[in-house]
Amino acid sequence: MLSWRAITASFPPPDDSWSGLAMHLDRCEQVRHQFLEQRTTSSERLLWPLHRIHYEQNRLIYEKRFRERTLSRATYAYLVRYRIADGDLIAKWRRRGYRALCSLWAISRCTAARSHAICRVPLRKRRLSEGARAATPALRRLFHPSSVTGCVTCTDDDCVDPRSKQVLGPIWFDDVQPDWEAMTPAQRTATARKLARKSALWSTSGDNAPIPGVSSRGAGSGGDSVASRHAQYR
Ligand SMILES: [Zn+2]
Repeated sequence: MLSWRAITASFPPPDDSWSGLAMHLDRCEQVRHQFLEQRTTSSERLLWPLHRIHYEQNRLIYEKRFRERTLSRATYAYLVRYRIADGDLIAKWRRRGYRALCSLWAISRCTAARSHAICRVPLRKRRLSEGARAATPALRRLFHPSSVTGCVTCTDDDCVDPRSKQVLGPIWFDDVQPDWEAMTPAQRTATARKLARKSALWSTSGDNAPIPGVSSRGAGSGGDSVASRHAQYR
């Protein structure tokens, strides 16, 4: 994939309203490259960080265009045209019910199999059938990250503040996970909103802040691979 800087050097953007995005795009690209260099297997679980980087990259573009309105319409169209922005994902975020959607994969590939990713079900509504209730591993799976995207929940119910309507973040595999199984449905919703607020990169961090979880793996500072952190989910 071409670097966004190579694209903008060859095909100049219509104006410079994108300049506030430069550091963020550099950081996402750097983390993505580091991840791809280190990756040794193509198992779905090991691709989770890529879904998160893709989300983070597009979320700031969305914020700049549709909330802060500092990114011009022409430059936004340019970013979509050259695939620096994912126009389809961003269009979903403007629809009720999809405002914190982690990835288009969570609603596309799975719906073809007449099912959707588990992260699209609000935490308080996840219940097992009577037969499955006795099986603890089955119960635990209800609160695991989606095997497709690595997202635990990205529903409006869990990830949008009902009063301010502020979209918080999805809760990702590498965010700290509380003991969802031990909670009542109402507690799950309240806890999810608190966690989602911390997970939201653009509202809690400065320009130099690392992308949570993903970059620590890339920089090698944690020494805690995605596979080992999630060995408990197998
Ligand atoms: Zn999701």
